[in-house]
Amino acid sequence: MRAKDRKYFKNKLLQKRLELISLVQKTEDYGREANTDAEGMDLADKASSSYTKELMFSKSDSDRQLLQEVVDALNRIEEGGYGECINCGNAVERKRLEAVPWSPLCLDCQEQAEGAG
Ligand SMILES: [Zn+2]
Repeated sequence: MRAKDRKYFKNKLLQKRLELISLVQKTEDYGREANTDAEGMDLADKASSSYTKELMFSKSDSDRQLLQEVVDALNRIEEGGYGECINCGNAVERKRLEAVPWSPLCLDCQEQAEGAG
């Protein structure tokens, strides 16, 4: 991958990282508030509040996981190997990187991984 392209994808990844960090932090703040508000609620309120909290936290888990993938991709940009499939070593399709810049797998390997999962 050319230096110009690396820089282009690096910028995309840095932007995505910022976005995810602020999302994850917002969710954590909401979780803390929901905890405090639970005092003095009746049982039904508590149940629905913890349901909402669970939803928020599972959302936050996937944000966190995505954040990790973005950070990994940034590391690959720094250390080399970005844009190559971590499974088979082939170049990850340019179109795929445009859509999902942190993607560590080429389309074939991604499809295999999804089929197996
Ligand atoms: Zn592959």
